[in-house]
Amino acid sequence: MLASTSAFAMAAEFVPVNAPRITAAAREYVNQTLDAGWLSSAGPMVERFERAFAQAIGVRHAVSCNSGTSALHLALAALGIGPGDEVIVPDFTMIASACAVLYTGATPVFVDVEADICTLDPVLVAAAITPRTRAILAVHIYGHSADMDALAALADAHGLWLVEDAAEAHGARYRGRACGALGDIAAFSFYGNKIISTGEGGMLTTDDDSLAARMRSLRDMAHRPGQRFTHDELGYSYRMGSLAAAVGLGQLQHLDEFLAHKHWMAATYRERLGAISGLILPVERAWAQSVHWMYAVRVGPELSLTRDDLRAALAARGIETRDFFQSCARQPLITHRLGAQAACPVSEQLAATGLYLPSGLALTATQLDQVCEAIHAAVV
Ligand SMILES: *Cc1c(COP(=O)(O)O)cnc(C)c1O
Repeated sequence: MLASTSAFAMAAEFVPVNAPRITAAAREYVNQTLDAGWLSSAGPMVERFERAFAQAIGVRHAVSCNSGTSALHLALAALGIGPGDEVIVPDFTMIASACAVLYTGATPVFVDVEADICTLDPVLVAAAITPRTRAILAVHIYGHSADMDALAALADAHGLWLVEDAAEAHGARYRGRACGALGDIAAFSFYGNKIISTGEGGMLTTDDDSLAARMRSLRDMAHRPGQRFTHDELGYSYRMGSLAAAVGLGQLQHLDEFLAHKHWMAATYRERLGAISGLILPVERAWAQSVHWMYAVRVGPELSLTRDDLRAALAARGIETRDFFQSCARQPLITHRLGAQAACPVSEQLAATGLYLPSGLALTATQLDQVCEAIHAAVV
């Protein structure tokens, strides 16, 4: 009786797939910024956030902008990528990675991923390089880095740029080095569900002085230096505002605490769900330190229910989940523009069987228990 009463009480609580934690520091910086009268990108806050972010990642330059997608676009634009060029993109990623390539007029070439970590398969990347390839866009999916040394070796051998989409990987590491400091340029997102958020926003990181200067110019309409209203090339209005930067600075000061929460979440899910044979839990390669942006599981064939069944069973108990990304090569957007693409079977399999569990920074131990109990109840 007691058990069913408490189960009922717990089932009444809605568990969102991602609820943010907003720090007192963020509120304080927002108030300071408002009190000082700064709204646009002018004023000290944007620069302060950029300096703090560069320091957190361990790079010379951080260039803020208004979204992760804008950051990706600025990176490719600064590298001079355009019509006639090809950029290698993982088939399994958020569509923004592909859209950024399309914005430049270049062609995304979708390459399949490795099933266990959902990131670019270097063997297939090698096979996809053509004389038109200009860059590899490596995505660190769900907080787990791509195999960057293997990709860097290919980029070096073929004279390609290596760009990181680190939108989901704030604080993640590859062989001890920070994601965001591994390629020529990296793009971060600060969308509401990302580990560091400004609501909407993005950041570019690089050690290259001239690329940083180019990205700063392009994000703000490419004004000619010293002649403000003269423009030699096509720029963009992609600036970050001071209030967003104030939130970002306050949140960034708590990055270690956020990462500790993610590790606790992943360890607890692993401990509670590890015994369910057929539920495939995320793995970490020996060289990776994942930040578990989302706790992403797959429903294997040994389980008696499908991914869609599991999603519905959890939803019935008030637990929100999200399906995995869909294959980019199969998106109507892509096939309408570029025609039929080679299939990426691993990515399609991930799309059909994966979902991610509640993973937000505000997830409580009680909510996590509720999720695990609901999964155990669904799979019996
Ligand atoms: C969130 C995300 C983006 C886009 O970031 P926005 O800030 O939403 O534009 C790009 N790539 C990946 C992998 C993402 O998860």
